[in-house]
Amino acid sequence: MKKTTLLMTMAMMLIASCSGDKTAAEFEYSNEKFADLQMLRYEVKGWDQLSLRQKELVYYLSEAALQGRDILYDQNCRYNLRIRAVLEAIYADKALDHESEEMKALEVYLKRVWFSNGIHHHYGELKFLPAFSEEWFRATVTANPAYVPQMPVAQTAEEFLDEICPVMFDPLVLTKKTNQADGEDLILTSACNYYGEGVTQAEAESFYAAMKSADDPEPVMYGMNSRLVKEDGKLTERVWKTDGLYGQAIAKIVYWLRKAADVAENDTQKEVIQKLIQFYDDGDLRTFDDYCIAWVKDLDSRVDFVNGFTESYGDPLGMKASWESIVNFKDLEATRRTETVSSNAQWFEDHSPVDPRFKKEECKGITAKVITAAILAGDLYPSTAIGINLPNSNWVRAAHGSKSVTIGNLTEAYAKAAHGNGFNEEFVFSNKERKLLDKYDSMTDDLHTDLHECLGHGSGKLLPGVDPDALKAYGSTIEEARADLFGLYYVGDKKIVELGLLPDREAYKAQYYTYMMNGLMTQLVRIEPGNDIEEAHMRNRSLIAHWAYEHGKAENVVELAKVDGKTYVKVNDYKKLRNLFGELLAEIQRIKSEGDLEAARQLVETYAVKVDPALHQEVLQRYKALDLAPYKGFINPVYTPEYDADGKLTDITVSYTESFAEQNLRYSRDYANLPLVN
Ligand code: ZN
Repeated sequence: MKKTTLLMTMAMMLIASCSGDKTAAEFEYSNEKFADLQMLRYEVKGWDQLSLRQKELVYYLSEAALQGRDILYDQNCRYNLRIRAVLEAIYADKALDHESEEMKALEVYLKRVWFSNGIHHHYGELKFLPAFSEEWFRATVTANPAYVPQMPVAQTAEEFLDEICPVMFDPLVLTKKTNQADGEDLILTSACNYYGEGVTQAEAESFYAAMKSADDPEPVMYGMNSRLVKEDGKLTERVWKTDGLYGQAIAKIVYWLRKAADVAENDTQKEVIQKLIQFYDDGDLRTFDDYCIAWVKDLDSRVDFVNGFTESYGDPLGMKASWESIVNFKDLEATRRTETVSSNAQWFEDHSPVDPRFKKEECKGITAKVITAAILAGDLYPSTAIGINLPNSNWVRAAHGSKSVTIGNLTEAYAKAAHGNGFNEEFVFSNKERKLLDKYDSMTDDLHTDLHECLGHGSGKLLPGVDPDALKAYGSTIEEARADLFGLYYVGDKKIVELGLLPDREAYKAQYYTYMMNGLMTQLVRIEPGNDIEEAHMRNRSLIAHWAYEHGKAENVVELAKVDGKTYVKVNDYKKLRNLFGELLAEIQRIKSEGDLEAARQLVETYAVKVDPALHQEVLQRYKALDLAPYKGFINPVYTPEYDADGKLTDITVSYTESFAEQNLRYSRDYANLPLVN
């Protein structure tokens, strides 16, 4: 999966940091904070639009999702399941003093383990250490051996502690989950559990090199679904399948998938689910490719899902895939929005302020599907992607295509949670702008993204003979600026209101304000002091904002106002700002169409790269004072089937009241499918 990274998530937060319509205020998006983490909730909007059969399908698929939970814990590190078990046993004991410093520290550590699906940071890869002492932990467990979990070979409290204490407390043991440092044996120095005891990087590499054939046009993803181990000195794969490794959990997944297949929306979808069951049963990677091909072709179903071995970031060799699942259904309203944009692609192209020589005669918009997540599991829980692009197999993508989706209710939850975190209060000029953003920013931000993706990148054409790579290192910044400007220009067009994409002619101002604030100031929070702007999307925003600021200076279109020593962006003339965006769009399209490298260099170097050190320092200080958690994750909703007196299913309800701790304790009770050692 091309996972939309956390960095992008943070970027989105900064762009969309100020949305929120008051009607939805009762939904509690933001939950608790601990360590460097913040828990959020997402709302399953449109649940009641689903038919009972569709709800039943989502329910069975979400049970199939939750049944795989332990697989990821064990993949991440072989000690994770037993450490989680002993921590939960202590945490659940009401007889202990939960107000003591040690117990509070244990609670934080346990929540971090739940968040990371193990003892290593979900993003930073390094092992995090408990804030309680080893002495206290040993004394607590020794005093009550009932905390010692049921190991396959029974252990005394002392034996158990001797084995796990170094893993928990010694910073030099199993330090890094996935080591990528060049020159070291990446397998022997990684704590993840994809390779058995004593398997070296060289051995694994030659094992898989021998399997591959250079002239296979349809290569399977070798090694994707197994642990490579040494048995009697010989390398062999322990395959993850119903009668193989992780079979106890996979059998439960298959049980729920079978129920899902019975209520599938159509035959195409039924075949997808059956192929997946077949793959879980036979573990054959050819079956997996067949399943992916069937999945890519399933476009008409409302409900969709991912369930399986998917992400290869956790394996230092990038082959073995961590288990994850998401169940979702199409957001019809948001998808209609992208379809409206796409079906009017030619109108937008014809009316853009670009020189006619650089316009496309025939223009096709791209339709992007927007989905609503219903459950997150495995490597997507609680920290998650906001977009999905699958399958991973290159030949399947080339021959059969891929599905690319945006998860609308998750991006919304990020944006809503950011609302009220103090960010706008700190950085937005006045109440007038804050009100504007409260009312419109969420919708204009979504629309700007649609215009950028569905039209912006596809608009315009190169003049004959121009090399597509003519702009070299400046190419991606110019390309992102082109797409952003196309979106900015049209967000402010009355056509958008006529098409019903925005409610009135005020709305676009919210997008203009946040764009300028972000590009001139607030995106600097992601740059280390003293550094330049490097990343293409950030350079593009800086380029557009600074160019418009400088070129509107004579007429005071946008100003950097100082109040009590703090700098604020103030937009004085939105109409003129739109004209400036149009002017720059025309110039950027010319540069692209003609391949004018020198002009691209000039623009980027003048407006996109350099940072005003004084303003940078000011922004960093103001941001730091807000004390925002850098990483966020989601609590799942809870689905409850309801039956009538005859035992017939009448409805499935969704609730959002479970806390992060309650949820994980319940998951550990109901979905603990694996032995503690695998
Ligand atoms: Zn783009």
